Amino acid sequence: MHFDQVRLPEAAQALRREVRAFIQDEVAAGTFDPRRGVTSVVFDAGFSRRVGARGWIGMTWPKRYGGGERSFLERYVVTEEFRVANAPVGLHFTADRQSGPMLLRYAGERIKDAILPRITRGECCFCIGMSEPGSGSDLFAASTRATRCDGGWRVSGTKVWTTAAHRADYMIGLFRTSPRTRDDRRHGLTQFLVDMRAPGITVSPLSDMTGRREFDEVVFDDMFVPDEHALGEVDLAWKQATSELAYERSGPERFLETSYLLFELVRVLGDRPDVRGAEGIGRLVAQLHALRRMSVSVAGMLEAGKEPVLEGSIVKDLGTAWQQTLPPRARDLAAFVDAGAPADAPAGVPAGVIDREVFDALLDYATLAAPKLTIQGGTTEILRGIIARGLGLR
Ligand SMILES: Cc1cc2nc3c(=O)[nH]c(=O)nc-3n(C[C@H](O)[C@H](O)[C@H](O)COP(=O)(O)OP(=O)(O)OC[C@H]3O[C@@H](n4cnc5c(N)ncnc54)[C@H](O)[C@@H]3O)c2cc1C
Repeated sequence: MHFDQVRLPEAAQALRREVRAFIQDEVAAGTFDPRRGVTSVVFDAGFSRRVGARGWIGMTWPKRYGGGERSFLERYVVTEEFRVANAPVGLHFTADRQSGPMLLRYAGERIKDAILPRITRGECCFCIGMSEPGSGSDLFAASTRATRCDGGWRVSGTKVWTTAAHRADYMIGLFRTSPRTRDDRRHGLTQFLVDMRAPGITVSPLSDMTGRREFDEVVFDDMFVPDEHALGEVDLAWKQATSELAYERSGPERFLETSYLLFELVRVLGDRPDVRGAEGIGRLVAQLHALRRMSVSVAGMLEAGKEPVLEGSIVKDLGTAWQQTLPPRARDLAAFVDAGAPADAPAGVPAGVIDREVFDALLDYATLAAPKLTIQGGTTEILRGIIARGLGLR
């Protein structure tokens, strides 16, 4: 295990100022309210197009596909700023983070030319079709079948917990193209680009505990996928899916998804918190700072062309565990603050009352959203297994 010491370069800090000014303008124009939007899965086509026009989608990709040929550290800054502001990045986020890089590596030129520029313009939404009713942690148990036919493949089976399937233009799906072999249980799976408007796909909503519809069940019934939509090597997807997970697990979204609650807690405790409040905030912020340094380090390693699967898993595991403890800690720390009379409220302004209402609403939401954090993108137990293996402990 190795976390390189990485500092964000001046170019990235200058970009941060640009992104903040952009966000300020968007908030002023009423596009979104950072204190109300409490989920990354908010879709705003206009916002995504404006982000694309700034060159902030596909930032690290080659210019010939619409990318910016900028660094992973610059991309890090944009992701971080949007996440902290609760910006509505739902439409382009998955394509930018992982589907686009997968296409870059494994798709043919025609597909890259057709789809990557649409992603960078903020016009194209992707979903990830890995999990199935009988295959979650154990991806290699996937049984949705792709059978060869004239000019392509016919797909039948079910994917589940597919985030944003009802919004997506495309899925990158993991399908079984051959049985496992006796000596390699990972063999026989292939990744495909799936046009979500193709006949033979039924998308049905699933609600999470907060009542929102963020994911879906996707049933394929003899759906046709052309040959050129097979990504990478047939039957050998296990390697590709693993490198995709390094992108999926390591970003700042893995510890900033509920950061809104920390910011509201600071507001509620005011400028002069008591010793208990100050100690609590100090501890939370110090932990967040350590997570951030680790995540920046992973971005630096991606920039250096490494595949930091182990380090990305550590960031995801620690980040999601930290986020899960945030709601109860915030509730405890805010419990003794008098909602109607904050110590630092200017005379005559009932700011504390407003802050408290926002805090309570966000606390309710974060409490209901927290359990999913250690499941999505790989469960805690699975990540710790990967970490143990990476450390030579199993
Ligand atoms: C909000 C959210 C969004 C999601 N979005 C997507 C998506 O877009 N696309 C997609 O494909 N999937 C998505 N998922 C699914 C997610 O990847 C799976 O839920 C996850 O991989 C776990 O699989 P499972 O639900 O089948 O649980 P299981 O794999 O059945 O696990 C059940 C329990 O057993 C434990 N366990 C399993 N195997 C082991 C082992 N070998 N050692 C120790 N413990 C083990 C697990 O840690 C867990 O506690 C999403 C899930 C959530 C919650």
